[in-house]
Amino acid sequence: MKFTDLGLDDVILKAVEEEGYTQPTLIQEEAIPNVLEGRDVMAAAQTGTGKTASFTLPMLHRLLRHANSSTSPAKHPVRALILTPTRELAAQVDESARRYGKHLALRVGCVYGGVPMNPQVAMLRSGVEILVATPGRLLDHVGTNNVRFSSVEFLVLDEADRMLDMGFLPDIKRIVDLIPSTRQTLLFSATYSEDIRRLAGDWLRSPVKVEVAPRNTVTETIQHTVMHVTERDKSKQLVSLLQEGKVSQALVFCNTKMGANRLTRQLQNKDINSEAIHSDRSQIERTAALDNFKVGKTKVLVATDIAARGLDIEQLPHVVNYDLPHNSEDYVHRIGRTGRAGQKGEAISFCTPEDRESVHAIEKLINKKLEVSEPTRGSRAVAAPRHSRTENKQTKEDSFFSKPYVAQSGISGPAKIIEENNVNKPGRIEKKQTIAALFMPPAGEKKD
Ligand code: AMP
Repeated sequence: MKFTDLGLDDVILKAVEEEGYTQPTLIQEEAIPNVLEGRDVMAAAQTGTGKTASFTLPMLHRLLRHANSSTSPAKHPVRALILTPTRELAAQVDESARRYGKHLALRVGCVYGGVPMNPQVAMLRSGVEILVATPGRLLDHVGTNNVRFSSVEFLVLDEADRMLDMGFLPDIKRIVDLIPSTRQTLLFSATYSEDIRRLAGDWLRSPVKVEVAPRNTVTETIQHTVMHVTERDKSKQLVSLLQEGKVSQALVFCNTKMGANRLTRQLQNKDINSEAIHSDRSQIERTAALDNFKVGKTKVLVATDIAARGLDIEQLPHVVNYDLPHNSEDYVHRIGRTGRAGQKGEAISFCTPEDRESVHAIEKLINKKLEVSEPTRGSRAVAAPRHSRTENKQTKEDSFFSKPYVAQSGISGPAKIIEENNVNKPGRIEKKQTIAALFMPPAGEKKD
């Protein structure tokens, strides 16, 4: 399929061409025509699949009729609201929307926490059609009457699972209540727990459900390896991988902010250019750390889950799980930072003897065995477990949207619309799980 087959206006196609996109991704093929038709969409997709364009391009098309160059704020009410869980993702979506809409007289703006309010107040008061926001800061602006939602036609909930994970549910509910019910709602989530489906049932009208790949799989271009190490040897092991050139540049995940800071210092002491990114760092520091990493100034970006979610880093060759994630679903999110858009990537996970159950859980979830890689010289090897309890059987009967967790591969794999009816209503859910039980937020992180 070509972009020109999707029914998008020429000014939008021009921007797409300038981006260098030759073909729509699978999520774009399925979502764009449905959004253009005015349908609500519930998509199982995460960053890296081209999902931002899948909702932004048709939204821009439908908002074209409002495009105008008037300087009057009244001519630029918020028409589309895009909610994201993290500041970095908000900034990324904002940047993409600006690029995709650069030939249109529609304004794009972004509000998130950790930076001064005043420039955002000025932007909101002068009017903006497409607003990207993290929920907490947006409500601050709502509270001081800087923004109104009476003209909103589109609501996008991006990375809905992570927003719940981060405790944003009450904020999101407050925001959704302020938006006209005539809106079109688009929900993107990498995972579909019962809670997400219940919310979708409340907030979406007969959504088209889009699945982009076989379930419980991860991008085929990623090689998964595990290194059996002791807790004490982890940093030595990472230093060896970097110094011996086995890892050229890596996003390294730690489970705590303190751990991330400590590791960053240890790497810096070995003259390895590294920076940390987590919620205790100021927004300016977070942005600088990410930018430095993206342009290759730093070799290692040490991150906690929250700061790293949704980051789009081109050509990232390695992700290292310095600490294995507390829940195996986060493994899929973390390693999804590499092997993007069909490129090759490697995910290396350090496994201490205490972590072996976690490795089994990951292998079961992704339906793949992690390849055992010998620790590099200089650090003690820990014998790999002799028996793996991995079950490599695919649970074919599992319905994508009816399981608490689903991961999908990136751009490749068959896309399909799997259902067009109403999603489950609350009353139909028999086994109720609490949000707390379904999601384990990273220890000690705080929300925007
Ligand atoms: P996203 O999932 O929206 O974060 O997009 C991931 C990456 O894919 C971004 O760098 C986009 O610029 C890129 N991308 C989006 N759509 C396409 C496309 N149709 N062809 C090639 N790259 C794309």
